[in-house]
Amino acid sequence: MRTPIIAANWKMNLGDEDNAINFVRRIRHGLIDIDGIERVLCPPFTSLGAVFEVLRPSPIQLGAQNMHWEESGAYTGEISAQMLSLICRYVILGHSERRATESQNENDAAINRKVHAALKHDLTPILCVGENLAQNEGGETQAFVSGQVQAALNDLTTDQVARCVIAYEPIWAIGTGKAATPSQANGVIGLTIRGTIAELHDEGTAQSVRVLYGGSVNVENIAAFMRMPEIDGALVGGASLKPDFVDLVRNAAGVT
Ligand code: PEP
Repeated sequence: MRTPIIAANWKMNLGDEDNAINFVRRIRHGLIDIDGIERVLCPPFTSLGAVFEVLRPSPIQLGAQNMHWEESGAYTGEISAQMLSLICRYVILGHSERRATESQNENDAAINRKVHAALKHDLTPILCVGENLAQNEGGETQAFVSGQVQAALNDLTTDQVARCVIAYEPIWAIGTGKAATPSQANGVIGLTIRGTIAELHDEGTAQSVRVLYGGSVNVENIAAFMRMPEIDGALVGGASLKPDFVDLVRNAAGVT
């Protein structure tokens, strides 16, 4: 049995402590009341501490949106897994907005180092993979996504792979309002992502890893994704910044 997850990626929003605190106070009780699904909030670094204080004690988990692979040292502007592990349970790694050339230009090797560092410090990586529109239209989705999964999970033990969460986030669906169809996402997750893990490790591990869908998920479409057998939840960007995020999580839990 894979416990589903809905993770909120606030991106570079609600970084102001007061706004973050007010928003979490507004959604906290609604989220706490929902059973059978893990709920994860991933605020910007500047509001992580404040959100941690507002949430505890509560079953809602905290996640960060990035980290460095080194433990400490001369890495200006960076934060380590060890630092995050004091208050976070999850960390989003390899988001396409960070992989983008015009942004942080993160490559597969760096993401693999981050996955290793996160697991070492008992953080669960939410590893993002996904193809762009040209790759999708050119029939390259399977090869590209499989390559990203292999590279990011390189040199992990089977036990470590089983502890990862993967988010399939086609770039063309992120923030565009054009979500993948549930069956499209289900196919990539089942055949490509679980298929790759089965080849690298074994079928049991492939079936135990939790794989989310991300890309224009909202309160209306979440249930259809949750009904898909291969999809274990969602990574939610824009729709996680609205108070009806609680309804989105409730609709997701209603299907499980
Ligand atoms: C994301 O960036 O992880 C994401 C899924 O964004 P959105 O839900 O806004 O498409």
